[in-house]
Amino acid sequence: MWVTWLAAVLSFWVVLAILQTFTGNGRCSQWLELSGFKLGLFHLQWETTRFNRIFYRLGHGFPTMLDTWFGAGLACSLCSMIWSVYLLSTALVHSIQILTASTSPPSTGQVLQLVVPGVNLPLEQLLFFLPALLLSAVIHEIGHAVAATRDGVGLNSCGIFLFVLYPGAFVNLYTTQLHHLSPMRQLRIYCAGVWHNMVLAIVALALLLLLPWLMLPGYQMGSGVVVTSVTKGSAMSGPLGLEVGDLVSKLSTCKIASNEDWTQCLTSSTQNVHGMCMSEELVRSLQTTATVYSRTGDIECCDNRSLSNLCFSYSHEEMTNQGNRYACLPVRKALEMSGEHPCHTNADCPALLGRSICLQATLVQPARLLILYRPPMKPVLFVGDPGHLYHTVSVSSYIPRFPLLPPGLPPFLETFLKYVVSLSGALGLLNAVPCFALDGQWILAALLECVQWPKLCPPFLFVMLTLGTGLLLANLVLGVVLLVH
Ligand SMILES: [Zn+2]
Repeated sequence: MWVTWLAAVLSFWVVLAILQTFTGNGRCSQWLELSGFKLGLFHLQWETTRFNRIFYRLGHGFPTMLDTWFGAGLACSLCSMIWSVYLLSTALVHSIQILTASTSPPSTGQVLQLVVPGVNLPLEQLLFFLPALLLSAVIHEIGHAVAATRDGVGLNSCGIFLFVLYPGAFVNLYTTQLHHLSPMRQLRIYCAGVWHNMVLAIVALALLLLLPWLMLPGYQMGSGVVVTSVTKGSAMSGPLGLEVGDLVSKLSTCKIASNEDWTQCLTSSTQNVHGMCMSEELVRSLQTTATVYSRTGDIECCDNRSLSNLCFSYSHEEMTNQGNRYACLPVRKALEMSGEHPCHTNADCPALLGRSICLQATLVQPARLLILYRPPMKPVLFVGDPGHLYHTVSVSSYIPRFPLLPPGLPPFLETFLKYVVSLSGALGLLNAVPCFALDGQWILAALLECVQWPKLCPPFLFVMLTLGTGLLLANLVLGVVLLVH
């Protein structure tokens, strides 16, 4: 799978390079260049000066508020720097433990982890991953740009880029003006990116927690789950399966009010096998007589292998020593006419017009017979592994109040916000690492200048940055090794 994916990414860049070669100095190519587009090896970027004025206004609009804002950013970024070093150190120790131990050590809930789309990130998640990463990078750069203009540093240009598969953003500041500032002011500008990432992560987390309330005007909760997608070609797709928008309120005997209930009901269906109660008379009237035989361990009693018939086993008082009896029954009809009492033995069944017996579908493990109730439509029957149902049917607790509202919108926002929280937080922490070429390098240098450290101990900065870079590289290398491992 990932080979196909790698080929697709390579093809994308090759096609771009070919297009650039063939269009050469054509009008289209000239127009793209004038618009600020630049293409390099695995690198596409768009640079513009059209936002300079907006940043200038933002930086000069509320000076006192901005001073407090970026002052808080300075404190947050310095804490992030310490935290990032701690996280990278513990992640490194954990990776080494995994590689050296014969049995995998308990997970420490690793915060920083290498993410490679197509390898440890499902490709369909790119829809969330790429925009969330781009948003995090843009907000990061906005932090630098506003902090810089606040302190009178001119902005040359800004832009966004795509490197191999990872999007990013940048701002070009007048470095001479920046270096003429006091170390404390420089420090505020360098810290602004990390700070904005942390703020974005917190805002996204707050929105995520408030999402059930924010969605209340359009969506209600608590009366079931709405089907948001069904994998094509799976057992639940097609005319007899589930449809997007179906409201599932019960899975066999397990009531469903939320997404958590759905998972819980599916899990319990794998652990407990329930039968259904039916009057003995009804079983006699519905069953078709057929030969009972054993096929790969399971008992089969429906000759025609019809999809609507299923073989059930039951025990009878008169023949306790003679094993089970078998009945081939039309499943849907049998379920409609049976009570909804879960049972293990005949004793669990109430008296339904005469003697009532407990019937169990004769299925091979881990298959189950499950009934998905979706009023007002007919229930859907599922025969198979409940795990398959879990992986092929996506549901949401948010039930649209109006027909035009898409049932998939709240889960989409939920997933996107989760990505923003983790990617923005990770980008902030990564940039805070005291490492060459990252914000951490400039933050540490300006911080040492603030406390006059270079005069006391000149090589200190170099040693710290070398250690930080080594720590980050070791984590990256071990991250790759673990992915391959
Ligand atoms: Zn930065």
